[in-house]
Amino acid sequence: MQFDKLTLYRSYDLHTPDIPERSVLYFLEPINVGAIECESLISYLIRLAEVHCVTPDKLIKHKIYPFFWGHDDLSGSCKGIVGRTFTNRSHIKLLNFSGWYTSKLVESLEILTLRSDLTCLTMMHWHELITYVYLLRDCKAWCPLCYSYWHQNKLPIYEPLLWSFEPVAVCPQHHYPLITQCPHCNHKLPIIAPNSRTGYCNHCGEWLGNLDKYHIKSDELYHSEIALQSELIKILGSLIAFNTKVFESENGSNHPISVDRKVLRSQPPLPPSSFHEKLYTL
Ligand SMILES: [Zn+2]
Ligand SMILES: [Zn+2]
Repeated sequence: MQFDKLTLYRSYDLHTPDIPERSVLYFLEPINVGAIECESLISYLIRLAEVHCVTPDKLIKHKIYPFFWGHDDLSGSCKGIVGRTFTNRSHIKLLNFSGWYTSKLVESLEILTLRSDLTCLTMMHWHELITYVYLLRDCKAWCPLCYSYWHQNKLPIYEPLLWSFEPVAVCPQHHYPLITQCPHCNHKLPIIAPNSRTGYCNHCGEWLGNLDKYHIKSDELYHSEIALQSELIKILGSLIAFNTKVFESENGSNHPISVDRKVLRSQPPLPPSSFHEKLYTL
């Protein structure tokens, strides 16, 4: 019979597949989390802007600040706010450390990227143990040898959290003094500027890993400093590296550490009026 010659094919599965939640911004992985060379939060923010081909001020204005303010765009009544964000160094430098703004920035970036480990790029876990007074730099510091090495080896260019501490004067990798002035234009560089790019001067736009521009030499003074510096770097570096253990303990791992992230994040927000005022001068 003709009916017997019909072929039976497998039926289609018409169920809608489970599609994982999509992040608004790229799921960019922070660098060296769990090591003393761990990236800083500001560095992550700058790299995140870079991978989206925008400047940090655009990313902050259009994607991050709405989480602070609770509406979608600041282009109207809040015009000019982004420029003022980058003028107060004393507030900006705290973003790599701790405080309400740091918590809010971490929270915003974690919502946008769907990452959950960005507290490890700050010192939020340790704010009750150490004070930021005299600890944080007002401007950028960098090791040109690190920049040069990463560039030559096609590694991502970033800013380790350790470089943001004022007492840290030498690079733990190269034992070379951290630089705080652009060798091209002699400007000091802010922690973050509207047009910041990791590894480049925001004033003249030149590459900061060009070793020909630095007077790199073996200096006895540096060698005597290294012994003092190594102890300091060991202490700060171990806190930075230990951030991951705290993070794991908060997320169900067996590490016996009791740091309540919710408590750390629950510093009372400023009342609307003063919050508005502080954000303008942030
Ligand atoms: Zn270095
Ligand atoms: Zn410059």
